[in-house]
Amino acid sequence: MSAAADPPPIEVHAGEDVDLSPLLTLPRAELITRLAAIFPAAAGSASRLAAEPPALRGGRAAAVARLAAVDPPAYARSRNHVDGAVSRLSPWIRHGVLSLAEVRDAALARVLRPEDAEKFVSELGWRDYWRRVQAALGDGIFTDIESPARTARRPQPLAAMPADVLEARTGMACIDAFVRALHDTGWLHNHERMWLASWLLHVRGVHWRAGAGWFLTHLLDGDPASNHLSWQWVAGTFSAKPYLFNRENLETYTSGRHCRDCPLLGRCDVEGSYEALDARLFSPGTPPRPPLRIRPAAPWVSATTTHDHRRPLVWLTLDSAAATSPAATAHPDAPRLFVIDRRWLASERPALGRLAFLCECLADVQGVEIRVGDSAAIVAARAAAHGCDAVAVADTPCPHVRRAAAALSATLPVHVVACPPFCDASRVDDLGRFSRYWQRVSRSALRPTGS
Ligand SMILES: Cc1cc2nc3c(=O)[nH]c(=O)nc-3n(C[C@H](O)[C@H](O)[C@H](O)COP(=O)(O)OP(=O)(O)OC[C@H]3O[C@@H](n4cnc5c(N)ncnc54)[C@H](O)[C@@H]3O)c2cc1C
Repeated sequence: MSAAADPPPIEVHAGEDVDLSPLLTLPRAELITRLAAIFPAAAGSASRLAAEPPALRGGRAAAVARLAAVDPPAYARSRNHVDGAVSRLSPWIRHGVLSLAEVRDAALARVLRPEDAEKFVSELGWRDYWRRVQAALGDGIFTDIESPARTARRPQPLAAMPADVLEARTGMACIDAFVRALHDTGWLHNHERMWLASWLLHVRGVHWRAGAGWFLTHLLDGDPASNHLSWQWVAGTFSAKPYLFNRENLETYTSGRHCRDCPLLGRCDVEGSYEALDARLFSPGTPPRPPLRIRPAAPWVSATTTHDHRRPLVWLTLDSAAATSPAATAHPDAPRLFVIDRRWLASERPALGRLAFLCECLADVQGVEIRVGDSAAIVAARAAAHGCDAVAVADTPCPHVRRAAAALSATLPVHVVACPPFCDASRVDDLGRFSRYWQRVSRSALRPTGS
């Protein structure tokens, strides 16, 4: 069947439990066309996505190929440059196709001394850290963690993304290029994310929640822990000060490619010294605030049982949408289920590219069923249909999954399977800042699994 064959739409009605598993066998172009029919509200051009080879394709084969290219010393030298030797592994790590431990082990295997991989491993540490903060705060990551570190001169942040930004016609060549890249590829370099977020928050006065929501829709690695907490870090509601950049900084790390032809060169929003920008954007003085302490969450036990179950249903979630899910590897013969949760569709509004990447990851999972609806209700119904006596799910800090597991556990034992450990966090008693966390865990994070 060709991409233009106009397949019949699968209508998704509220409360209906639809099996989307047949989608996983389709070639990418048809997959995209079908996804566009099933999720007509999903952002992104189906015809463009179907016609072009993706910059990043879901699934284990692409992940392993990219992992083989990780070069920790080159990474340490060049990671801040947009053309630097960054790994681009985030979409696969986000979906659990690669665990942080596996990526760390691969990086350590490529250097003579662990110190030569420290920069790379510490960046993996940021992901681990954000997840621990999410586990500790739950839905608290969606509101200001601290009062703003500086008082903005603009009093009322904008609750919605400005149209000129979404249409990539701000006139700032750099910003418009970042917006187009985000919409077209679903991925941005870390520095580009920081510049875009900083400009939106501090220059345009957008509320960080609006920016974070927009990123989640489009990023293939979209993950509330890393995303919302990074936006709060840029905003200064989870950091010592707001993150600012100036044109010189951007020009250095982009080799001037955006500034060269920018119509606003010399008079753009981020022209000038940091002191001048700071004075323009923030009122003088730093509001007092107490040092932040965040106690790590207790292990997630409320919904677990330690009993052995002969026939569990493996419930794959966004954190473990892969054959490598710890729950799947612990129960190799059990039936597997992934639920595209309606609340996730409503809250993150995933773009077509994101949905396609997810399906490509799930296509590696032998015999997986994909359903759309309410996670707890569908997991319970499918467990009954398969004659399962329990549910196995990989550990996750996601509050939606934890709530659904808690609801399920009223009628069915839920076994939470631990992820491969990235570090020993038993001595971490405060997650208020990354530096304090990293001081406690870096030695163990720099040791390969099993050593
Ligand atoms: C505003 C903003 C929003 C972000 N949203 C997300 C998001 O939704 N999902 C996401 O995975 N990352 C997010 N990040 C973090 C970071 O930008 C990406 O993880 C990174 O750029 C991915 O590219 P890479 O795989 O080449 O990373 P590399 O630099 O090669 O690092 C390797 C891996 O380490 C992890 N990592 C590296 N830096 C960070 C970081 N600062 N925070 C958390 N993990 C990190 C990622 O898993 C990454 O794949 C965000 C950063 C900012 C500033």
